[in-house]
Amino acid sequence: METFSLERHRMVEEQIAQRGLHDPKLLSDFEEVPRHLFVPKNFQYAAYDDTPLPIGFGQTISQPYIVALMTSLLQLTGDERVLEVGTGSGYQAAILSRLAAQVHTIEFLPDLAIRAKILLKELEYSNIHVHIGDGSLGWPEAAPYPAIIVTASSPKVPDPLREQLSDGGRLVLPVENHLAELLKVLTRRGDEFVEEVITSVAFVPLRGTYGWK
Ligand code: SAH
Repeated sequence: METFSLERHRMVEEQIAQRGLHDPKLLSDFEEVPRHLFVPKNFQYAAYDDTPLPIGFGQTISQPYIVALMTSLLQLTGDERVLEVGTGSGYQAAILSRLAAQVHTIEFLPDLAIRAKILLKELEYSNIHVHIGDGSLGWPEAAPYPAIIVTASSPKVPDPLREQLSDGGRLVLPVENHLAELLKVLTRRGDEFVEEVITSVAFVPLRGTYGWK
C-alpha cells in the first residue's frame, strides 16, 4: 500500500465527508493529493490529522476540513481560472488545480513560493502558476477570475480582489471582525457584492498593501 493511504482515507471520511461535504470529485481529489509531501518531514506523521501544521517561516498549512470547505464554497465546475492568495505549502493550489482549468497562486515569501513551485512541478501539476509577490493586490495579468480564494486573514476585503472578480464570480476569504475572524463568500453581481458569513476561523495574517501593517 502506498504510504499514508489509510490515514488519508480516514481523513477524507471522518474530517470531510462526515462533516457534510459529499461532492464525489472533491472527496476523490483529497484521496489523491499526497498531503504529507506538503508538510516538513518532521511533521509528516501528523499530515492527516485534524489540524493545521507549521510549514516554516511562521506560516501554516490549513486544517484539511478548512481547505475542503473553502474549495467547495468556490463552486468550481472545471473550466475556471482561479486565483489563490497565499500559496504557502502549495497544498490548497494542488487541490484547486484538479477542480479548475488553471490556478494562479501568489506567495509573499520567496522561500515558500520557490519550495511550492518545485514540489508542484515534481508532482506534475502543470496548470498551476506560482508567482512571488503581494497577493493583496491580486494578479491583474490573468484577471478577471470567476473564483478567488485568500488563505490569510485581512483587516478588510482588499479592493483589488473585488475588482479582479468576474461578474457572477465568488471570492472566499477570512476577514477580521471585532477580534474574530470570519470566513466570508462575496458573490459579484455587476458592481454589487453579496456577502455571506460562513463560520469563524483562524488564519495567519495577510501582509502587503491591503493586509496588516
Ligand atoms: N494555502 C496555503 C496556506 C498558506 S498560509 C497552503 O495550502 O499551504 C498563508 C500564506 O499566505 C503564508 O504562506 C503567507 O506567507 C502568505 N501571505 C501572507 N500575506 C500575503 C500576501 N499579501 N500575498 C501573498 N501571500 C501572502
